[in-house]
Amino acid sequence: MIQKEVTGLILRATNVREADRIVTIYTAEEGIVSALAPQARSYKSRKMSSTQQFCYGKFILERRGEYYRILDADLIESFFGMRDSLEGLALSSYFCEVLEDVATAEPGRDLLRLALNSLYATAEKRAPRWKIKAAFEIRLAAIIGFLPDILSCSECGTRNGDFLFHIMDGFLQCAACRQKQIDERREEPDEGRAHIVCPLSSGAKDALIYCIYCPVEKLYAFRLAPEDAALFARAAETYLLHHLERSFTTLEFYKSVEREQP
Ligand SMILES: [Zn+2]
Repeated sequence: MIQKEVTGLILRATNVREADRIVTIYTAEEGIVSALAPQARSYKSRKMSSTQQFCYGKFILERRGEYYRILDADLIESFFGMRDSLEGLALSSYFCEVLEDVATAEPGRDLLRLALNSLYATAEKRAPRWKIKAAFEIRLAAIIGFLPDILSCSECGTRNGDFLFHIMDGFLQCAACRQKQIDERREEPDEGRAHIVCPLSSGAKDALIYCIYCPVEKLYAFRLAPEDAALFARAAETYLLHHLERSFTTLEFYKSVEREQP
């Protein structure tokens, strides 16, 4: 039997049989892993508290044919504070659902750090939820290979003023270049896919750039005017969902309970 120790975050936990649990863990070492936690729900089990959704811990796994069994588990962090509010819990569920969707069997330290950072900030209320959400969305998109080119207008190179963010191609067009395009009646390049644009102010653009390139532990250390915040949040969500080509039930639920919008 091969045993290994991994460090990871429980994205999903499903109760099976009388006392067992099947969990999906996002690990630093192996990417996404499914494992059976036998007797996880029995009264005496040490594993009980560490194999619930959102738990981050160390797990000793043993390979049994197609799947792993959890032999032992040690809780590192449970992000307990997120359970104070339905909104916080809903947002955390969204982070886990996105991670499960994009995760592969490759080591994913950057994604794991981003997820832990986002859950911690949500639990400890380190920033408004809309900010934690948008920062997660744009940073995650960049990590998994959808890095947008939004430092400046793709045509004239300006970094100031109002922009259109061309979502699928991931580039910026300033208002002046946009007007020129309309005046010259140039068509959008048609590559057989939906043409989606989000308006971006200079401030909203700078916030997106910050979230992509800053050290992950400083992810929320930026200021935004209220009118920029709404553009920033909309662009981040639109960008991620269109590149993943899907929405998430947890996101719909979060939106149905969240009243604090940027
Ligand atoms: Zn331009």
